[in-house]
Amino acid sequence: MAKVSKKIQTRRERIEKVLPILKKLYPTAKCSLDHSSPLELLVATILSAQCTDDRVNIVTKSLFKKYRSAKDYAAVKQEVLEKDIQSTGFFRNKAKSIRAMAQSLIDLHGGKVPDTMEQLVELGGVGRKTANVVLGNAFDKNIGVVVDTHVTRVSNRLDLTDHESDAVKIEQDLMQIVPQEDWTIFSHLLIFHGRQICNARNPKCDKCPLLPYCPAGQQIMRERNEQD
Ligand code: SF4
Repeated sequence: MAKVSKKIQTRRERIEKVLPILKKLYPTAKCSLDHSSPLELLVATILSAQCTDDRVNIVTKSLFKKYRSAKDYAAVKQEVLEKDIQSTGFFRNKAKSIRAMAQSLIDLHGGKVPDTMEQLVELGGVGRKTANVVLGNAFDKNIGVVVDTHVTRVSNRLDLTDHESDAVKIEQDLMQIVPQEDWTIFSHLLIFHGRQICNARNPKCDKCPLLPYCPAGQQIMRERNEQD
């Protein structure tokens, strides 16, 4: 068996402490993009780039009634779809991605969303992060860890990765230390924690149950105490 470095071992031990606390803290943590099918989640995930999940959910409420299949998205004119999704921002690129994705679903898979990473990233407009969201949440497959801005920040503060911002490298670090059956939920837990306690500007370390295991939190508390 490959020898595990001291750093990985320390991080695995930290995960063992932190994961049960997070699961207890956020028992209802789940994907916050509303969807009732893999196709809907695929569309919602594309729309969620640089946009809040709440805003996406407002837009998809009517969007999903209007477009029910890959064929519907592939057939709509670019300008019409742009208008439908305008308020999510970057609507030209997003409309292009959704239409390209829908067309490749029809060409390659008879309109059905596939359930493997290789097939998903082959679709137009779909990257690894989007594929991970769909596999984990629509197909219940722990194929990777979704790394967004919250996961990036909280993982760095908890010293779970060596990489500050490269999502692919952060994901690789996390996959080495988080048990595979927890990959999908781990990402939701960090997103919930990042939104509710470990905020970007002003983390509530004094109220955070992860403080005993968090190098950055302990540093932040020392600095705050020195200022008092
Ligand atoms: S202790 Fe502070 S920095 Fe660490 S996870 Fe909690 S809120 Fe974030």
